[in-house]
Amino acid sequence: MSDDVLNIQPTIRQIFSGPCDFRLGVVNLEQLPSSHMPEIAFAGRSNVGKSSLINAIMGRKIANVSHTPGRTQQLNFFEVGPHFWLVDMPGYGYAKVSKTLKKSWDSLIKNYLVGRPNLRVVFLLIDSRHGLKDSDLEMMKMLDKSAVAYRIILTKSDEPKASDLKSVKEQVELAIKKNPAAFPSALPVSSWEKKGLDDIHEIIMGLI
Ligand code: GDP
Repeated sequence: MSDDVLNIQPTIRQIFSGPCDFRLGVVNLEQLPSSHMPEIAFAGRSNVGKSSLINAIMGRKIANVSHTPGRTQQLNFFEVGPHFWLVDMPGYGYAKVSKTLKKSWDSLIKNYLVGRPNLRVVFLLIDSRHGLKDSDLEMMKMLDKSAVAYRIILTKSDEPKASDLKSVKEQVELAIKKNPAAFPSALPVSSWEKKGLDDIHEIIMGLI
């Protein structure tokens, strides 16, 4: 085999415009598929704009943009060709969720985070209009405890004024300063204006 053949790396376009198939949704860990594929996960409060961002990153509708916050309570796995698995984590922080459901959610997430050596990064989505909420801080604690690398994404960055976006970014970056598993800077994105998507593509490329 020639060196040319060995050195072929898929391009961003080939990865993100290639096949992407829903594989399964799990509500408890026994259902988790064993896989050696790199996994890239997306987490955030209900209504943070997670489905819209996943769809924008993949350039097609794979996740359901929901009008009823707090509905999806399972981990959804999508196989992105032979490159990686994209994991849509259940939205958290929805006030109307029962204590029992919250408990089972917490244990599903915790166990997923500690039991997945192939999990490369969790993109933790924060709504740039609201900044960090208590439930986000809880999630960050969980990520730090499980030593999973995570990166904060500020969603809906088309909405706040530039000065407000800047202060939310600063607030978040100050909060993650002490968190060892967090990447130090927060990335503003807008699915509506397709801003920041190239950065996310590059980050994923660097991890798979
Ligand atoms: P999820 O519950 O986190 O999956 O959030 P969705 O993707 O369903 O979006 C929640 C709401 O935020 C919907 O009304 C979306 O239209 C809106 N939204 C999503 N992305 C953006 C964005 O980039 N900018 C703005 N302004 N709104 C957005």
